[in-house]
Amino acid sequence: MSQPIEFHPTGSFADRSRAAVNNAPLRKSFRGAMDFLQAKRLAQFPNAADLSTLRDLGSAIRRYALANLPNLLVQLEEKLTANGVHVHWAETPAEANAIVLAIAQRHKATHMVKGKSMVSEEVGLNHAMEAAGIEALETDMGEYIVQLAGEGPSHIIMPAIHKTKQQIAELFAEKLPGVAYTENVDELIRIGRQVLRKKFAAGDIGLSGVNFAVAETGTIFLVENEGNGRMCTTVPRVHIAITGIEKVVAKLDHVVPLNSLLPRSATGQAVETYQNFISGPRKPGELDGPDEVHLILLDNGRTQAYADVQLRATLQCIRCGACMNHCPVYARVGGHAYGTTYPGPIGAIISPHLIGLADTYPLAFASTLCGACVEVCPVRIPITDILIRLRNEAQARPGSVDATLRGSGAARTAVVSAIWSAWSTIYSRLGLYRWTSWFMSRGRALSPTEQGAWTRCRTPLKPAAKRLRDLLRERRK
Ligand code: SF4
Repeated sequence: MSQPIEFHPTGSFADRSRAAVNNAPLRKSFRGAMDFLQAKRLAQFPNAADLSTLRDLGSAIRRYALANLPNLLVQLEEKLTANGVHVHWAETPAEANAIVLAIAQRHKATHMVKGKSMVSEEVGLNHAMEAAGIEALETDMGEYIVQLAGEGPSHIIMPAIHKTKQQIAELFAEKLPGVAYTENVDELIRIGRQVLRKKFAAGDIGLSGVNFAVAETGTIFLVENEGNGRMCTTVPRVHIAITGIEKVVAKLDHVVPLNSLLPRSATGQAVETYQNFISGPRKPGELDGPDEVHLILLDNGRTQAYADVQLRATLQCIRCGACMNHCPVYARVGGHAYGTTYPGPIGAIISPHLIGLADTYPLAFASTLCGACVEVCPVRIPITDILIRLRNEAQARPGSVDATLRGSGAARTAVVSAIWSAWSTIYSRLGLYRWTSWFMSRGRALSPTEQGAWTRCRTPLKPAAKRLRDLLRERRK
């Protein structure tokens, strides 16, 4: 069993959500961004039948990979090793950080440039490197902004989506020496690029995430839009890629449909600006590329999800973020309110495995179960079914057959226990059950006959039934 990562968000989920809902600029940023992303995604999928077929294919590819995960991971390791890539296995965030640190220390590295990697956020890599005296600099523009602000990402694809351009202008003017306040977005990007360009040249180690790891060929597939990912994987002498164990796919052919779904679902782009296929270190005679390539495969609770036939579907995720973009809760409270690395619907279903249900069960209840996430998920993860299952797990009696996860039963209170115990007693005795049913049915008299505040938009049962009876009587005449 993996160890939980550090989890110290301030206040409860309810407190953080309340603060977010009362933050007007934040609400405006998220509402505008989500509307924009929803419209862009919709424009990319004009034909519902084509989309449905592609989603079926994407789902099948991911389910096939998960069904064969142990064998595919072994195959991936063999192929990568044959290609000259060093493969490392980490069960916990601490182990992953120790592997990166050992590589860095062997190379006497002091500067690390990072491409976008949510797994590196998950393991708290930046803090671990800084504690060891190594600068770990984010080079994705959104990640760079939130790092400069001392924050974490609020969205898995667009980390700084919660910030307005005025806030970014203030941040740059405050944190970057010699930079004047400007709200010109092109100018802000130029400033950021100028700072980062020098850092790429000075980087001893480049660290990146992985979109898919192809077992058949031993290929690390990585997509991005800014070119910073390619700079991180080619300029420094050492490249370290880090990923969860679930990102493996069986064949190179399988990347094509998945990557047809990924950018269109994520940002509404037809295709990403850069697609990187990394198969090993630089070969003799090649001008570009690192001397050493490492891949770290992280568990961190994923095997807990894998062991359960229903929860395994969580691992199908390709981290597109579409479920967040369409979630009415996420759109209102934003990513930071969740307090976890992965926010939104995917965060609510993956975080209990990474951190434990005890600290994360409120997220499973932070859903209207409207199913918008399920409708847009490109790999058809049954998110709402999984949310209901996690709610049940959170309420399960510790030690019972229903309590299968780390932290199961954390939401169960003495009142809930008493109610279930009474329910069980009544339903297991026929006479008691009949008497209770008779007694409870007397309560029908308490049901409202007129519209109260909460029924203003509904038709009360008794008048509706009376109308129906009258109608039938009238028709029979
Ligand atoms: S759960 Fe589905 S929609 Fe959400 S990030 Fe994962 S693949 Fe995308």
